Amino acid sequence: MKITSSAAELKQYVNSLRQQKKTIGFVPTMGALHAGHLSLVQTSKKTNDATIMSIFVNPTQFGPQEDLEKYPRPIEKDTHLARESGVDLLFLPTFETLYPAYPTVFVDETSLTNVLCGPFRPGHFRGVCTVVNKFLQLVQPDELFLGQKDGQQLRVVEEMVKQLLIPVDVISVPTFREPNGLAMSSRNQYLSEEGRNKASIIFQALSLGKKMYEDGENRSQLIIESVIEKLNQEKEFRIQYVDLLDWDSFVKKDLITTKSILAVAGFFSQTRLIDNIILE
Ligand code: AMP
Repeated sequence: MKITSSAAELKQYVNSLRQQKKTIGFVPTMGALHAGHLSLVQTSKKTNDATIMSIFVNPTQFGPQEDLEKYPRPIEKDTHLARESGVDLLFLPTFETLYPAYPTVFVDETSLTNVLCGPFRPGHFRGVCTVVNKFLQLVQPDELFLGQKDGQQLRVVEEMVKQLLIPVDVISVPTFREPNGLAMSSRNQYLSEEGRNKASIIFQALSLGKKMYEDGENRSQLIIESVIEKLNQEKEFRIQYVDLLDWDSFVKKDLITTKSILAVAGFFSQTRLIDNIILE
């Protein structure tokens, strides 16, 4: 596995792949790698000649009160995991490489970001879109791999790619879960073992909502209320939102008639967790 923090070296590598007519899959991450990230790599390897992974904790997507400083950065372990999983090039850019000047130019999606995490994390998706756009300029991959775990990020980046005419296919990878159903996340490290057990309530609640839908219930509000009731069984979980939206528009519909996202965000102590499930 090649490792570089230089944009010039990355370009050289990409150019040599292109000369050999090889396809490139790209997996952007913030590191603290877990099996969810590695499933993105495995998916990329199925359809691409080379897989490039980036690790970059992007400051512009963190709010002032968020965990930028304490976000885990186990770079040696990550390098080992990336190599083991078959990444061909690991890109570890510096802040200065991605932000060559004080940032005054951003990419902003202004509709899908008005719901779910958007209002609670002002500027977050602007930071995500901006940095993903920079990565796409540098890597120019054939396929971009994103996790369904961050459903709103996936949908927002899909829309950015479509509207900005970026020549890449966005591929969604199913959420990889712990045996108890908890969605894998770098932030799970902030939880104790007991906390991780308790946090399985999120998947239980989402599964309950999905089962109601599959059993014929299509009134959004009733499903949302049942999910809230289930989440409230776990006293330590503080709900931030539970919502059920049409997948394409992220608009709330009284009756579910199209592919939809049932999404939850909330806190165990200081740790913010998100998860979602698709109803279709
Ligand atoms: P992050 O490092 O948290 O920014 O995540 C990098 C990529 O991995 C994003 O596309 C995430 O959606 C994806 N990802 C994170 N956790 C999971 C998971 N449990 N299953 C599948 N993909 C995931």
